[in-house]
Amino acid sequence: MSSNEILFQRAQRSTPGGVNSPVRAFHSVGGTPRFIKKANGPYIWDADDKQYIDYIGSWGPAILGHAHPSVIEAVQEAAALGLSFGAPTEAEVLMAEEICRLVPSIEQVRLVSSGTEATMSALRLARGATKRDKIVKFEGCYHGHADSLLVKAGSGLLTFGNPTSSGVPNDFTKHTLVLDYNNCEQLEAAFAQFGSEIACVIVEPVAGNMNLIRATQQFLETMRKLCTEHSSILIFDEVMCGFRVSLGGAQEIYNIQPDLTALGKVIGGGLPVAAFGGRSDIMAHLAPLGGVYQAGTLSGNPVAVACGLTTLKLIQESDFYSKLSHHTKLLTDGLNGLGQELGIDFCADAIGGMFGIYFSKNVPTSFAEVMQCDAESFKKFFHAMLDRGIYLAPSAFEAGFVSASHSESVIKTTIAAAREALLEISTKN
Ligand SMILES: *Cc1c(COP(=O)(O)O)cnc(C)c1O
Repeated sequence: MSSNEILFQRAQRSTPGGVNSPVRAFHSVGGTPRFIKKANGPYIWDADDKQYIDYIGSWGPAILGHAHPSVIEAVQEAAALGLSFGAPTEAEVLMAEEICRLVPSIEQVRLVSSGTEATMSALRLARGATKRDKIVKFEGCYHGHADSLLVKAGSGLLTFGNPTSSGVPNDFTKHTLVLDYNNCEQLEAAFAQFGSEIACVIVEPVAGNMNLIRATQQFLETMRKLCTEHSSILIFDEVMCGFRVSLGGAQEIYNIQPDLTALGKVIGGGLPVAAFGGRSDIMAHLAPLGGVYQAGTLSGNPVAVACGLTTLKLIQESDFYSKLSHHTKLLTDGLNGLGQELGIDFCADAIGGMFGIYFSKNVPTSFAEVMQCDAESFKKFFHAMLDRGIYLAPSAFEAGFVSASHSESVIKTTIAAAREALLEISTKN
């Protein structure tokens, strides 16, 4: 038995499913999860000392590559000064100033410890500020696991949602309207019917939790216009795409200003930092100034903030995003070329350092189209790549991530492996 298998068996005895976050369990692709021992640059090593080129990057945070020496040094220095104080620090001020400077729509920001906390708090704030209950989200967008967001569309058009997780009371999701991503007509219909009751619309402006799906410019503009007209708050959940698709996030690319933004993943650089921020008149509703309660023992933790702050410094080097985009596009151009060369329905798309791989003829533009991709082929491809030392997300419905340490030669190795993998899985069919 491999060390990964031994660890997975042990893990299942002490932890439900053997993992601390479900997608890690490989359920949708089958097989044994790799237990990671260490990581450096674009590489990770599993418990059997097998090396992989990593395209998960801890689901986004490792944008500089793993264990960047400057980041590690900053973390060690901060740790030596004490791990947590439960009192404010100068580093938090610097971090907040940096976020406000980098993200166009953020005037004020509050630090939290996870993306889930950021979106949950933004939602409460939007409801508190508008004194309204109803919220709008889109099918296929993930915003963390707060109760009112674990919801799928109701059975009829424009009916309120049903829980997607047991343990969530219907009463908690009955205020959530779930609409189709990239569907402007539905959004207009929803506002026509419920406009004056909608506290906020929450959206991933570049969706990365149903594989990578780009919002259309028109979709986000329609959303901005409707929210303004109806005094509803527009929340961009940029936990994944913030500092990932460009330095100013998706809002910079689309040139649209949300009222609130949720951030996470990259801003922690690998330690638990997330944030939500936006218009200062809305942020003023938060305790201790206003009536919307929100708090955290480890919010703004000094070691985590040192890690995030150093990461934010390094991604501001000139050409950082042009290089990152270039390398990501090299990968997806190579993969698209393979689909054409081998005559299979296989394609890829990239924005900044984020990419999607699809077993379909064309890049999908909606949740329904993503669901039509060939998940069986993905499963085989995933394992054929893993065998060849390429570690992709273990699900056909997750985006992939390239880091600044993925060099041209690393990308070429990946494309060569993908060619072999695609040949292997198409002859097996
Ligand atoms: C990952 C993610 C979250 C949740 O963040 P956690 O830190 O896992 O709680 C929320 N929204 C989006 C868009 C994400 O990708």
